[in-house]
Order: sequence, then structure tokens, then C-alpha cells
Amino acid sequence: MIHNSSPTIVVIGCGVIGLSSALSLQEVLRNDKSKSSWQVVIVSKEWPTSIPGAPTHHSIEYSSMWAGAHVRPIPGTTEQLRQEGLWLKQTVSKFNSLLKAGNQIGLALAPAIEVFEAPGNGYKAQTAESFEADSGLKGYRELTAEELPNGTVLGFEYESYCINSPVYCGDLLRKFIIAGGKTINATLRSVDEASIITPNVQFVVNASGIGFNDSKVFPIRGHIVLTNSTCFDKTITRQNMDGTWNFIIPRFFSGGTVIGGTKEPHDWRRQPDSATCHRLITGVQDLKQHVLSNGSPSQPENMSVIQEIVGRRPAREGGLRLEIEFPGNMNSTESKLPVLHAYGAGGRGFEISWGVAESVAELARSLMVKLDQIKGRLARL
Ligand SMILES: Cc1cc2nc3c(=O)[nH]c(=O)nc-3n(C[C@H](O)[C@H](O)[C@H](O)COP(=O)(O)OP(=O)(O)OC[C@H]3O[C@@H](n4cnc5c(N)ncnc54)[C@H](O)[C@@H]3O)c2cc1C
Repeated sequence: MIHNSSPTIVVIGCGVIGLSSALSLQEVLRNDKSKSSWQVVIVSKEWPTSIPGAPTHHSIEYSSMWAGAHVRPIPGTTEQLRQEGLWLKQTVSKFNSLLKAGNQIGLALAPAIEVFEAPGNGYKAQTAESFEADSGLKGYRELTAEELPNGTVLGFEYESYCINSPVYCGDLLRKFIIAGGKTINATLRSVDEASIITPNVQFVVNASGIGFNDSKVFPIRGHIVLTNSTCFDKTITRQNMDGTWNFIIPRFFSGGTVIGGTKEPHDWRRQPDSATCHRLITGVQDLKQHVLSNGSPSQPENMSVIQEIVGRRPAREGGLRLEIEFPGNMNSTESKLPVLHAYGAGGRGFEISWGVAESVAELARSLMVKLDQIKGRLARL
């Protein structure tokens, strides 16, 4: 039941950004006695129920269901990457505490290996100290020449996280509901529609992945193959000279293994194609040998394909939009509501999720102070 009288924050979107933000907003309200009557409502057209291979279906835009996913830090060589790096470090810290609180949440600590045919300067300059200081991830070690797969010139390993994305998002949604969160199933035509979807909305958080008619938003097509393999206990990523990628991401918690993958900006094709599928499966053979010959206790097995998947990463020129948009006239009782935008996470939504959620919480705190001031002013009129 939604309490009609409760002041409400509406979050649009039930992807990893909307869910993490909604949980952080609940914490903000819990910690502020003056907001004890407030509630958070998630409005979304799709919800985390996906089990690839079962007859459930999600659109390719619902990125959080298709993500591998793993945490893979990228050197901070641009302003956007530096900001994302800060969010990643906050996320790693939160993942640590989530795992301490319970380990059946779709999140697993696992070794990661990265190898490169032509690494950029940022990767070449990395050291164990700088890597841990920048990401919070431990166990960094550069691979020796003998350990590198054919054709690669640099490689390293570290302790990272693999996420079974549908399971993890389902867990976040359950936590949100247990903490009093409410849900509305709806397809919104505009952000403004969210402000009247339930009574007494105070402001809206737009975590809709691709936003609403933002010309800076574009898809990065991701073609991956979900297999039934359970023999991998690490994730490995290979960046090739021609810009292509090969990666293996175990989806722990009975989710098989993701064999990837493509990163194709502005590519709107919806269907998987057999040539790419073949390239991914063949390309991974070398990595497979490498991973399994380096201490994994499991044996190779015959992999079979559960599903060829295409998902769209919700990218945005300049990176994630994180800001409050104020309506024209905030001092009028009839004006539109402020909107806190948090969309356009691109290919990194899981690994930056808790950093973004903490920024959403900070912005929400400042917005609530401002709304209280405006209400005080209007009451005195
Ligand atoms: C193949 C692939 C591999 C990936 N691998 C990784 C990885 O290894 N690590 C990583 O960190 N990230 C990875 N990603 C990226 C990650 O999936 C995204 O960054 C992340 O899921 C974005 O989350 P989001 O919540 O912003 O958007 P989404 O997950 O797309 O969620 C958007 C939500 O908004 C709702 N919505 C949208 N429009 C409306 C509307 N008009 N009305 C109502 N509801 C609406 C949707 O229903 C959905 O619930 C990968 C993505 C792909 C496709």
C-alpha cells in the first residue's frame, strides 16, 4: 500500500542505479528524524526477474539484466574516468560490507586477470600500490612473461568481484521492499509524469538508464554468450590490438558463465549474429586454457550455449548525468518538481553503483534542505 499522505521521493527505474539510489535514499530518511514520515517509491516498466533460458523476457534496453558483470578498474586518464574511479572505489568498499553482512546476494569475491596486446600508458604505469590506492582492490600482481597468453605483452591479476546481475538486482529490490519501499509498475512518457504518479511527491530521481530524449545518450551494443559452464572460478579479460575484447565472467550462484563480448557504440542492432558468437567462443579457448592452467581446481568441460544475448549499455557523452534540474519557478506552489538525474552509466553501472548512489544521497540531502526553506517562505506569505 502506498500511503497517500506520506511525502514521497519517486525513483524512476529499477536497474542497478535506481535500486542502489533508492536504498541510499531510504537510509537518508532513516537518519533524519524530521523525515520519518517520508517514503521512497520506485516506478519502473521492467523489474529484475530475468533468468536467461527461462521464458521470462526483458528488453535489450534494460541493461542491468544483461551485464556480465565484473569490477574492472580503468586508469583515470580523463576527468570522466577519474570521477568513475572514485565511484568505483566507494562501490568496492560497499561490496565488502555487503558481503560481510550476507553472502547469498549475487555478489562474489573472485580473482581477476587482465591481459593486453597493446596496453595504453595508464595500464603500463600502474603499480600494485597505485592500483590498490585508486580502486581499493587488493592482491595486484603483474604477470610474468611466461604467464602471458600468446600475443599479449602485459597482464596482471587482482582480487575483484563478479556479480550475477539479475540475482544481485533481485536482492537489492527485496532489501528495498523490506525497508518499507513501495513499487509502481508503469511506463512513463516523461519525467514530469513521475511527479503525479502518486500523491504528495516531493522530488523525482531519474535513474531510467537512457533518460528521456537526451540527445547526448547513445547505446553501446554488447553481444555476449551465456553458457552453462561452471568450471571457472576467476574472471579474465583480454584487450586485443584491433579494439576487440574477449572475456570470461563466471556468474556465480548457478548462473553459468558469460563469454564476451562486444562494445559497439551507436550500434542499434537488436539481434545476436552467428559470426560474432563464433568469434567469441573461439576467442575464449586461449583464455580458457590460460585460466584453467593457472591453478583452478576445476576441469574443462564441454560448454553449451544457454542464450546468445544482446544488451545495450546506456552511455552518454561526457558520462553519467548527475545533477538536480530545478523547475523555472521554485517559489510557486504550482511549479513542476525538481528532478535529480542519475542516468547514462554506460558500461560501468554495477562497478560504480554505490558511489553514484552516495552522490544521489548527498544531492537529495541538499535538495531537502532547500525544499524545507521554500516551504517555510511560502508558509509566511
Ligand atoms: C553485455 C553487457 C555487459 C556489461 N558488463 C558490465 C560489467 O561487467 N560491469 C559493470 O559495471 N557494468 C556492466 N554493464 C553495464 C551495466 O549493465 C549498466 O551500466 C547498468 O546496468 C545501468 O544501470 P541503470 O540502472 O542505469 O539502467 P538500466 O539497468 O537500463 O535500468 C533502467 C530502468 O529504468 C526503467 N525505465 C526506463 N525508461 C522508463 C520509462 N519510460 N518508464 C518507466 N521505467 C523506465 C527500466 O525499466 C529499468 O528498470 C554491462 C552491460 C551490458 C549490456
